[in-house]
Amino acid sequence: MSDTQLWKVAVDAPLPEALTYSFAEPLRRGQLVNVPLGKRKTKGLVLGPTDQVPEFQVKAIDSIDEEYAPLPDTFVKWLEWLSSYYLHPVGQTVQSAFPPLKKADKQRASKRAPVIPQLEADKLPDLTPEQKTSFEAIAAHKGFSTHLLFGVTGSGKTEVYLRLLDKVLKEGKRGLILVPEISLTPQLIQRFARRFGDKIAALHSQLTDRERTNQWWDVVEGRKSILIGARSALFCPVPDLGLIIVDEEHEPSYKQDEKLKYNGRDAAVMMGKLMNCPVVLGSATPSLETWKNAQEGKYHLHPLKNRVANRSLPDIEVIDLRQQKADDDQQKLIIEKYSHLPYWMSPQLYERMHEVMERGDQSALFLNRRGIAQMVVCPACGHTRECPNCDISLTLHAGSHLVCHYCDYHEQMKKKCPDCKEGELEAVGLGTELLESDLARLFPGKVIARADRDEIQSRADLEDLIARMESGEIDILVGTQMIAKGLDFPKLKLVGLVLADVGFNLPDFRATERSFQLITQMSGRSGRHIKEGESPGLVIIQTFNTEHDSLVFARNHDYEGFANHELNVRGALNYPPVGRLVSFRIQGPHLGKVEETARLLARRAQSLKTQVPQYNLVEVLGPAEAALAKLRGQFRYHLLIKSSQASLVNPFSRQLLGDQEWVPSGIKILIDIDPMNLL
Ligand code: ADP
Ligand code: ZN
Repeated sequence: MSDTQLWKVAVDAPLPEALTYSFAEPLRRGQLVNVPLGKRKTKGLVLGPTDQVPEFQVKAIDSIDEEYAPLPDTFVKWLEWLSSYYLHPVGQTVQSAFPPLKKADKQRASKRAPVIPQLEADKLPDLTPEQKTSFEAIAAHKGFSTHLLFGVTGSGKTEVYLRLLDKVLKEGKRGLILVPEISLTPQLIQRFARRFGDKIAALHSQLTDRERTNQWWDVVEGRKSILIGARSALFCPVPDLGLIIVDEEHEPSYKQDEKLKYNGRDAAVMMGKLMNCPVVLGSATPSLETWKNAQEGKYHLHPLKNRVANRSLPDIEVIDLRQQKADDDQQKLIIEKYSHLPYWMSPQLYERMHEVMERGDQSALFLNRRGIAQMVVCPACGHTRECPNCDISLTLHAGSHLVCHYCDYHEQMKKKCPDCKEGELEAVGLGTELLESDLARLFPGKVIARADRDEIQSRADLEDLIARMESGEIDILVGTQMIAKGLDFPKLKLVGLVLADVGFNLPDFRATERSFQLITQMSGRSGRHIKEGESPGLVIIQTFNTEHDSLVFARNHDYEGFANHELNVRGALNYPPVGRLVSFRIQGPHLGKVEETARLLARRAQSLKTQVPQYNLVEVLGPAEAALAKLRGQFRYHLLIKSSQASLVNPFSRQLLGDQEWVPSGIKILIDIDPMNLL
């Protein structure tokens, strides 16, 4: 026996487990090392010593990477949790914890964000009574605890974050704030920088690798004590972490859709648990996952029910787009008067836009375009078709065929509406470009701007748009949901949702929740800066389905009513957050092979169910063609695993995937635990 020890090392390769290496010198868990792998050299993270001698010949670690001190043990635990919970190779998970480049010889000062003068302490606004209560209740916690700051739009959640961070800094600790990438604008960073000056580091997708590396070292070596960033900022090991904040915790963009498919919000809560610090989740429309945890007492609930300065929430008006019957002469005159309007523009919306623009204020129209297939609706009664098994909308194929993208149910589309037996079902399509050109015709001389993924491709585009809205140059803003969030324009007094039904009819069990969030967040943009005595902002929602659950509650600003109702709906079919869900996506360039593998996977799932008795509580749905049936040359099928027993889905999925030796070449199987996107 020599002194040489064996070590588990997570190497940068698609291997499910860490590999065993030898090394003659002492090593520490969390140390980055250089190792041989096959014929190449790669990086690995030491997870700890092992005395299990593998059957094959053990190779030796080449060297320690002296640039990095060992990662803290709690941080390595967090990385191990990510890998095991999301079924992602451990070696590929840990790579994200290091910056892209080598440390600069000298950290250059020139690239730093300009130092912004701090506000004097006495200029801080007095907290509203609700802000004060929430702040004090959260500040009373030192160790791990999760808090939901449930505040209506404009209630001053950010001010509560700032006070909490201030307190954490005074205690000599550090803070981490996660925000959705889209809201990580200079405006937001400035708001934090005005309070904390150059203690702020920021990590987002627009940084160069050099900037990212410098920010990483500034945080890790303690020169910056507050890190604000998009979800990936979690992978920067902040020392002495005293608080984690997740703003807009309901945002689907916290979920990474590729490679390690983690949810930044959930991973933040786990980090708080491992590092024993409080975690604050903030939202006006909490995800049902978070709401359920708050209802069950796992999270502490802190409501902010009012906007600051007694500003009222906007008025929400719901407009019925179903065909108006010309019953009497007066009605006939109205229909006549507005006959020049396109079908998507109601007389009410048209008149309100005129009024707002006459006062020199702004309007914004939203259209949710994520609908990938055309929606099928009865223009007389508003009926749309849903899957009898899955409670999600059926999608139209080849003009006549309706399909469920969860369970593969099929039916022929009937011409006559099966509900009112009067109207004829129609496929409706609409886009932001069409809206823009119709508006230009209806409002000649007005400045119209469009914000969708075609027009706004970079942060600079978005900032340019924000500046033109702030200066009042733009009269009408038209866009997709990308502009529904976080923005704050003083002159914006009217917000219109052109066709709410697009959101209702997405083939996704979260469609109703998404619609509710979108309507509420979008409404929150209207009338944010009204003065005393001024009438509140206005929101107009146009729809064929005025009785849709999301609308009925949103028009009354009733989040709680909505959440409790929707939780019951989810429970009936064991959808999250009541049950747990995993999606397996099968994809490849040959349709036949993809279908065959999808069926093979389903058979494996069924036989696994019969082998293990507890697995009778696991439901297998599909395989079915994904709603996005083909993407970038790859055909896509999916199989869904659902269970009322949360603890079963992870081991079931692990066993179902197995060693993957059974997967034919050319086919990829991508596993998504707690999926957010089922298209
Ligand atoms: P939220 O994040 O809840 O939507 P914000 O934190 O953006 O709300 O606050 C809305 C507006 O109210 C901001 O302009 C903010 O500066 C201001 N504000 C927040 N708290 C107070 C307060 N206690 N007194 C006066 N103004 C406040
Ligand atoms: Zn179905």
